[in-house]
Amino acid sequence: MTDKIQKSDAEWREVLTDEQYRVLRKKGTERAFTGKYHDLYEDGVYRCAACGHPLFAAETKFHSGSGWPSFYAPIANASVETHKDFSFLMVREEVVCSKCDSHLGHVFNDGPQPTGLRYCINSVSLDFEAKRDAD
Ligand code: FE
Repeated sequence: MTDKIQKSDAEWREVLTDEQYRVLRKKGTERAFTGKYHDLYEDGVYRCAACGHPLFAAETKFHSGSGWPSFYAPIANASVETHKDFSFLMVREEVVCSKCDSHLGHVFNDGPQPTGLRYCINSVSLDFEAKRDAD
């Protein structure tokens, strides 16, 4: 069990931009191809934009053509959680940050090996930290 970060709606509004708040806390979706990370392939780590929890490693990022950052696995099994999402007359698996429960995106079963999964994640939910040469 991780210790969850709990903030009130007003506190989240204060620390997040309007677009971050809309996606992370209200389960919104950024428009495809508009995010800052869908076409980024540098080495590094993607953290939760709401709480800084490490979520995805650049090694697992792949070009899906969807217009959203896509990964075939989280950085650790415990870094994200999934929930069934029945909105929009579909059944999808919602992906949230395990540390702060913020909405990240959805996971689908049409990804590449070794997992066959495609974590389709909003750029605005992520904070990229480039790998430093000294590491
Ligand atoms: Fe988080």
